[in-house]
Amino acid sequence: MINLKLANILTDIAEVNKSRTDDRNISLHLTIAARTIRDNPERVDKIFAEGKLKDLVGIQGLPYDLIKEYLETSSIGLYEEIKQKYSQDLIRLMRISGFGKKMLFKTYDALNIKTLEDLKEKLNEGTAISSVLAEITSGKDAAIKTYVERLKLSLDYIESIKGMSSRWEVENYLEEIKNSLYRIKNIEKVIVVGSLRRKRSAIKDIDLMILPYFNGLTFDFAKSEKLLDEINSLDFIKRLIKKDKRQENISARFESVFGIEIELIISSRKNWAIDMLYTTGSKKHIEKLEAVARGRGFFKDGRIDTTAISKDRPEEIINRSDTGSFPETDDVRYEEIIYRKLGLQYIPPELREDLGEIELAGNHILPELLTMEDIKGDLHIHSRWSDGIISLSDMIERIKKFRYEYIAISDHTTSNYYGRGLDAERLQRKTNYIDRLKSRFKDFRILLGSEIDIRGVDKFDYPEDIIKKIDIAIGSMHSSFLNTGDENTARAISAVKNKYIDFVAHPTGVVFGNRAPYFIDIDGLIEEAARNNKALEINSYFLRMDLNEQNVRKAGKMGVKLVINTDAHRPNNMDMIRLGVDVARRAGLQKNDVLNALPLEELKAWKSQRIKA
Ligand SMILES: [Zn+2]
Ligand SMILES: [Zn+2]
Repeated sequence: MINLKLANILTDIAEVNKSRTDDRNISLHLTIAARTIRDNPERVDKIFAEGKLKDLVGIQGLPYDLIKEYLETSSIGLYEEIKQKYSQDLIRLMRISGFGKKMLFKTYDALNIKTLEDLKEKLNEGTAISSVLAEITSGKDAAIKTYVERLKLSLDYIESIKGMSSRWEVENYLEEIKNSLYRIKNIEKVIVVGSLRRKRSAIKDIDLMILPYFNGLTFDFAKSEKLLDEINSLDFIKRLIKKDKRQENISARFESVFGIEIELIISSRKNWAIDMLYTTGSKKHIEKLEAVARGRGFFKDGRIDTTAISKDRPEEIINRSDTGSFPETDDVRYEEIIYRKLGLQYIPPELREDLGEIELAGNHILPELLTMEDIKGDLHIHSRWSDGIISLSDMIERIKKFRYEYIAISDHTTSNYYGRGLDAERLQRKTNYIDRLKSRFKDFRILLGSEIDIRGVDKFDYPEDIIKKIDIAIGSMHSSFLNTGDENTARAISAVKNKYIDFVAHPTGVVFGNRAPYFIDIDGLIEEAARNNKALEINSYFLRMDLNEQNVRKAGKMGVKLVINTDAHRPNNMDMIRLGVDVARRAGLQKNDVLNALPLEELKAWKSQRIKA
């Protein structure tokens, strides 16, 4: 996961640099470079080796030199200098918490804090840290309380994502892993199972199930073990962690060069479907499924018994010769048969979390989940007018690829320095430009969007007479990490209550591994959104995933429309829309729960009805 690691280092350097007022530009360039690196699906070391690093957006000058230094020496002098004084974790806390360097470093120095553990201890003791903060904040009690809470929340957040990786990032390595496995001649098939198949936003490991040619209707343990030895010598494997031999299969856990553990399950043709079901999980879903199986007499030797079920399996597939493909649709057909035998509707992997799906499937009333094809457009895309680096032709390429009816080019507003926000004058020029695009393209619509900073309660970057002329008006908070929950909630709700603002973007502000969510009463925000017929965003950018599936579930139940956007700043970010669709599917959303599943005319009607009311 070299891209993210390097991007984080560049962001750290940018953060440390930010507090120096004289050269904000360095931070800006480093932030742009970090974004390019972390969004790039190809590994940065590979790109460097090919001599193409300088071709990437924003990787010239200082950022290039720093990256080169890192790839050649595995460290960056500038970063080592800071790290000598403060551990990497303590530097990272700056990003996670949103605290400025001055304040945090002063606190560390005054209390001789060297590690996160030290900090935790000081926070638990309470008095010492409060008096240091009192000095820094000139003694305002309420502020000190919020600062302490923010530090605690940040530490909890770091704890909660320990060992987790973003699924999008992991998926970038998946092809490479599968390809090297397929080079072993005994392997017929490799499929993704586990939380990766259930499409969780963040995952702990990669679970893959392997079908070797030799495991047909019987399981050959000797050959399967030999196969594991062969796998152990592949390039991407660092070492075997443990092996688990069961009655019907073998699984092995490996440490990989990608920094994430890989679990491989060697299965057989005979047990393929049931192994797939079990290894996909979740554990709780399977437990409940087993209870159903027990009730129906399909449980034997500690597992759901498929011998009764296997009578229904299509024989031509089971006894098929060793050659030819074994398409994934057949796998799902097997699973369908198992669910059917248990008296259940087929449950898509995304819903297998024991959150009521088995009961719904038993009554044959599972939701018909949203699909990628249902999405009619992306309403949150940044262009070169602000901090996006996407050309019009890049956008059009995606419009065609996803068969969108519309997109909205939604740039930042005045107060957003790092986002190169547009003031009223530049917005007018952009409006004229979008008007020209509107008359130029007939097959799809390019809408004028704006991601308007919510600076305070009822304080937006544009006055109402400007906001009302914007096709898609988004309300966003970008700088509220040190506010109280009451302040932030009131700010967000004021946007929800503003007639002309259509939805609130990334409502909790969380950025995976980079920023803990801000304090906000999300339930209160959802209630107000319901009351005012406003949408809330599922931000699909791979590090955001905000709202998360728990909150999306709540919003959906309250009848709030969700809007799934990419917040794209780079061309390939627009492809991340599927990640947001996955969040929606995991939350059980259907097409009619989603604002941008509406055709353009209905989207317009949704807005104008609200404004008239
Ligand atoms: Zn934003
Ligand atoms: Zn944005």
